[in-house]
Amino acid sequence: MRNIPLIDLTEQYEMIKEELHASIEKVFKSGQFILGQNVKALEEEIAHYTGNKYAIGVANGTDALVLTLDALGIGPGDEVITSPFTFFASAECISRVGARPVFVDIDPQTYCLDVRQVEAKITERTKAIIPVHIFGQMVDMDPILEIAKKYNLKVIEDACQAIGAAYKGRAAGSIGDAGCFSFFPTKNLGGYGDGGMVVTSNDELNAKIRLLRVHGSPKKYYHECLGYNSRLDEIQAAILRVKFRYLDKWNEARRNKAAIYTQAFKDLPLKTPYEAPYNYHVYHLYVVATTRRDELMGYLKQKGIGCGVYYPLPLHLQPVYKDLGYSKGDLPVAEELCEQALALPLYPELKEEEQQYIIQVVREFFERG
Ligand SMILES: *Cc1c(COP(=O)(O)O)cnc(C)c1O
Repeated sequence: MRNIPLIDLTEQYEMIKEELHASIEKVFKSGQFILGQNVKALEEEIAHYTGNKYAIGVANGTDALVLTLDALGIGPGDEVITSPFTFFASAECISRVGARPVFVDIDPQTYCLDVRQVEAKITERTKAIIPVHIFGQMVDMDPILEIAKKYNLKVIEDACQAIGAAYKGRAAGSIGDAGCFSFFPTKNLGGYGDGGMVVTSNDELNAKIRLLRVHGSPKKYYHECLGYNSRLDEIQAAILRVKFRYLDKWNEARRNKAAIYTQAFKDLPLKTPYEAPYNYHVYHLYVVATTRRDELMGYLKQKGIGCGVYYPLPLHLQPVYKDLGYSKGDLPVAEELCEQALALPLYPELKEEEQQYIIQVVREFFERG
């Protein structure tokens, strides 16, 4: 019986094992484990890569978002607009600083925030928009920037799934006031533990986030404000610097494999990912949609193919947000997609023969009716 997981990190590890071990060993020998040379170097590399002046390593992608909102002074009484179709952290960060998430439905093609519906949700309390570049595809940013300018709002890109993606040639994380990345192991650039980063070209924001990640402390044992303990580990940074050298190549491999799926499923009653013409999509996940989702999932599992539902419940209907007052039917596109979406295995190391097997099983499912 075949066993192809939704994502497999072991193959990649085997491939770069020597480099990884050498770089980790250097860290051990240096005796420097917090905010050392590797964090600094990775910050410079990612800042340069994304076309930003600064990058600040933090403990995880969620903290990247929380610290950014905090640094921008967003808090109780404020509203922040985001997508209901994303990982919980995209909204959790807003609630965490005491502000209120306001959800706008998604575009039925890109699954990103529907930019045509944003303006109607703006109130006097709105302070920011968090566009989420879902599954590796960027939000249509120009209309977002226009609205932000008109209403004087901050824009924080949740680029946790989109490192390496581009919009009209501009890198994910370089368009808003700040961009947030996650180095969770399964992300396109993943460590062997938690990690995150904020990128920005704003001097003040950079300084504030740097302060916040070390207890609001500009100098040891002097505290200017209440902060966090939220730093990227030196060991993770060393690992990430090795992996970062492969990121573009891995993203290309994801794109090639995505194109193979899309071509192979063309004639099936299966919605394949739409790539907006202005985007360089990096396929963090390859998500198809069908009204027979649960049935297809069962069939794939039975054939030894891992798959996953991203996401089963939109954020506006989460139990924790019942007090926000949303009900079923409020954001129909996101709600419907939650019933139809299914991620198929897609990672740079997925073998051609494995992918052909997956394609064959999916085709079989629809052909036998
Ligand atoms: C992974 C992810 C996060 C959170 O990142 P962590 O590093 O797990 O805290 C936030 N937003 C999105 C869209 C994500 O996919």
